[in-house]
Amino acid sequence: MINQTTDSVQSTASVRRFGELQAHRRVVIKLGTSVLTGGTRRLSPPQMVDIARQCAELYHRGYELIVCTSGAVAAGRERLGFPELPATVASKQMLAAVGQSRLMLMWERFFEIYGIHVGQILLTHGDVESRHRFLNAQDTLHTLIENHIVPIINENDAVATEEIKIGDNDNLSALVAVLTSADLLILLTDQAGLFTADPRETPNAKLITEVDVIDDKLRALAGGSRSGLGVGGMITKIEAATVARRAGTHVIITDGKIPNVLVRVLQGENLGTHIPAIDTPPENRKRWVLAGAVNSGHIVVDAGARHALCHRGRSLLSAGIVAIEGEFDRGDTVSIIETNGLEFARGIARYPSQDMDRIKGHHSDAIPDILGYTYGVVAIHRNDLILL
Ligand code: GLU
Repeated sequence: MINQTTDSVQSTASVRRFGELQAHRRVVIKLGTSVLTGGTRRLSPPQMVDIARQCAELYHRGYELIVCTSGAVAAGRERLGFPELPATVASKQMLAAVGQSRLMLMWERFFEIYGIHVGQILLTHGDVESRHRFLNAQDTLHTLIENHIVPIINENDAVATEEIKIGDNDNLSALVAVLTSADLLILLTDQAGLFTADPRETPNAKLITEVDVIDDKLRALAGGSRSGLGVGGMITKIEAATVARRAGTHVIITDGKIPNVLVRVLQGENLGTHIPAIDTPPENRKRWVLAGAVNSGHIVVDAGARHALCHRGRSLLSAGIVAIEGEFDRGDTVSIIETNGLEFARGIARYPSQDMDRIKGHHSDAIPDILGYTYGVVAIHRNDLILL
């Protein structure tokens, strides 16, 4: 669903300046294992408490935070006393199963010190590749955020097989940034950022403070630093940045060891490498709607709903629906047509056709009574809709 081949949009789109971030406050924080262990074999409670403290400071200033945490496998290894295990997928999954609950227990405790509730979400690629599940994950994340609960996310390593794995938490955090329309993604690692060369091989290598264009040269640089001295993972950070910036998210790669790094980054200090957002999020969204195969189903709406969609920038509500034609599932892209049969918009259905049929013409408040459940008040959200 999310294409990360080349950053071709950047030639036509302008990058957004970081200063504009002041108005936006949703931040995804990705914590690499090395940040949580402080470079040792064990998770470091002081290190994790310090991160929770910084998150709390930002949280109390009104930032909406989403944490992507690594460290499940490391926690499992530590808990079991660093056992000698066969190098099988199942062994790693076992370590993740033991470690994830421990990791979460620690986050729960450390955020509790600051009076913050957390909620665990474990994702795999399967949870974001189909639109139905994408919407479900998105709804859960939004609901946590709306209720001031900090989502703590990791890959569902204990069950993810190769085919459904995202594989690394850099890319996972980028998907989360897309899911939540985050303003900023901070990738905390054990490096100061991206360098002009491997700093361990080239002493005069310089920190790149801002990257406007992600091209093959940059990818080679990032790839090189990984294969070089096990500096680790810069290429996946570049991949993640490619995805996130296209969804309108700024990306900062910086060193988790810098004192008070999260707070200082959000105060506007230039720490690490900044990869600015590309200023086309609505366009990208639209492409996403258009890119999906259009289901043969139609939603027929009345003149009032048409006017609200076309001229007032509103979402489609059940009250404005007069008929449902054909069959579709939640997450499918469907046509929206007028009573005269003319298609004037397309969008992603939030309810399957049979349920849409039952709620048509009714006020949104009646949805829970009619269906016995609700995915929310809108039938097609404004953000998932294009006018033709
Ligand atoms: N999900 C893995 C873990 O919790 C980490 C993957 C990564 O660090 O990129 O151990």
